[in-house]
Amino acid sequence: MKALDELTFDNRFARLGDAFSTHVLPEPLDEPRLVVASKAAMALLDLDPAVAETSVFAELFGGHKLWAEAEPRAMVYSGHQFGGYTPQLGDGRGLLLGEVYNQAGEHWDLHLKGAGMTPYSRMGDGRAVLRSSIREFLASEALHALGIPSSRALCVIGSSTPVWREKQERGAMVLRLAQSHIRFGHFEYFYYTKKPEQQAELAEHVLNLHYPECREQPEPYLAMFREIVERNAEMIAKWQAYGFCHGVMNTDNMSILGITFDFGPFAFLDDFDAHFICNHSDHEGRYSFSNQVPIGQWNLSALAQALTPFISVDALKEALGLYLPFYQAHYLDLMRRRLGLTTAEDDDQKLVEGLLKLMQNSGVDYTLFFRRLGDESAELAVKRLRDDFVDLAGFDAWAERYKARIARDGDYAQQQRRERMHAVNPLYILRNYLAQNAIAAAEAGDYSEVRRLHEVLSKPFEEQAGMEQYAQRPPDWGKHLEISCSS
Ligand code: AMP
Ligand code: MG
Repeated sequence: MKALDELTFDNRFARLGDAFSTHVLPEPLDEPRLVVASKAAMALLDLDPAVAETSVFAELFGGHKLWAEAEPRAMVYSGHQFGGYTPQLGDGRGLLLGEVYNQAGEHWDLHLKGAGMTPYSRMGDGRAVLRSSIREFLASEALHALGIPSSRALCVIGSSTPVWREKQERGAMVLRLAQSHIRFGHFEYFYYTKKPEQQAELAEHVLNLHYPECREQPEPYLAMFREIVERNAEMIAKWQAYGFCHGVMNTDNMSILGITFDFGPFAFLDDFDAHFICNHSDHEGRYSFSNQVPIGQWNLSALAQALTPFISVDALKEALGLYLPFYQAHYLDLMRRRLGLTTAEDDDQKLVEGLLKLMQNSGVDYTLFFRRLGDESAELAVKRLRDDFVDLAGFDAWAERYKARIARDGDYAQQQRRERMHAVNPLYILRNYLAQNAIAAAEAGDYSEVRRLHEVLSKPFEEQAGMEQYAQRPPDWGKHLEISCSS
C-alpha cells in the first residue's frame, strides 16, 4: 500500500511532445472536499484507501497541488460529432496529469476532469459541475462491476466554486483512470490536418504500448485495427445486453482500447425500449439504444479512414466486416447466459428477439425481468412474470418455447440455475432516478447517498441486506428524466 507521495510516474504520452498536447496547469477549486472515492480504483494505484480522507487528497484532486513528477497536459484531438466532422476538439476541461505505474507493472493515466480552461476550451469554461461528475463516477465504477469495459473513477472532489449552466451550480472534478486516453479522434486529427509524421508516431505509440502482441503479426497495424474492432464489438454487445445507452457516441468519445469512455447523458434502460434516446439533444435519435450497434461500426469506419496511410483499403474493409459477427457472437453468448442457457442452438437469437419484442410492447423492466427469471425454475418463473405482460397469448407462446428450450438445455438443480443466472443478471443497476436522488442530496451537502449507491453498485449481482430500495423500478417522477449535454 502506498501513500499519496509514493506514486511512481512515467509520462509516456507527455513525452510525445507539443504536437500532441499542451502543458496546462489545473485551476484549483475553492474549498475542495471529498465527495466520494472508489477503494477499488485506488487499489489500481496501490493506494492505501485511508488516504482518501486526508486533506492532501482533496487538494491534489481539486487542482491545488501537484506531484513534482506530474506533467499536466491537455491533449489535442478532433472527431465526428453527430456524423459531422469537427476539425479540432481536444481536452477542453480535462488534463492528463501523468501516467502512474503500479506494482503489477500496469500504467494508469491520471486524468483530472473539470480542471479549468485549456487552449481547447473553445466557448466552454473548462469546468465540470457536481451533478455530471457524480454521474461519471458512479457510471464508471458501476459498469466495471457489471463486467463492461470502462474507464474508471478514483474520486469526485466537490467545491464552493460557482459554475453557470442553466442555473448556478458548483464546480467539481473527477479523477478518471484509464490505461490510455487516446481516442479515435486522435488519429482523425493527424489524418485530416495532414501530419503524416505525427500520425505515424501516434500509431507506433499505440501499437507499442497498448497492442504489443500485434507486433508479432505480419501486418502489425492491421492486427491492431482488428483488435480494436473486436474490442469495440464486445463492449457494445455488453451495452446492449445490459441496457446501457451511452448517448454521445461521437468518435472523440470512442477509446482505442474499446472501453466505455466520456460519460454524458448516458442511461440504463428501466423499461425495455429499443428506440430509447437518452440524450435530450439527440433530436434524430442517432444514438438511440438500438442504433448503438450500427453506430459502433460507423465510428470504426471513421477510424479506418484515418488509418488508410498505414493499411490498405481492402484490408480495412475486411477487418470492418468482422464487427457484426463479433458483436452477434458476444451478444448472443451473454443473452443466452442471461436466459440461463448453457448450450447454443440456432434459434436462440429468435428466442431473445421474441422476448424483447414482448418486453417492448408491455414496458417490462429490463433488469428485473432477468433477475426474477433466475429466482425460480423456468416453469414457476414464467408463471409469475406473466402478469407483467399485456399480450398474454404472445407471452404464453414465448414461455412454452422457453421452457422447451430449457428442458433441452440440460437437467440441473434449481439452486444451480439460480446461482448461474444471478451471476450474470444484476439486481442493482445505475437507474437515472437513483443517480438523481444521490445528486440532490450531494448538492445539499450530504454525500452519504452517493457513497451508499456507489457501494451497492459495486456488487450488482449480490443481494444486499437492507438495500431493497435500490432494486426498485423508478417512481413516476424518475421515469423519463431528461439529461442534457451541458455538464
Ligand atoms: P463532450 O461532449 O463532453 O465529449 O465534449 C466535447 C468537447 O467539448 C470536448 O473537446 C470537451 O473537452 C469540450 N467541452 C465540454 N464541456 C466543456 C466545458 N465546460 N469547457 C470547455 N470545454 C468543454
Ligand atoms: Mg468527450
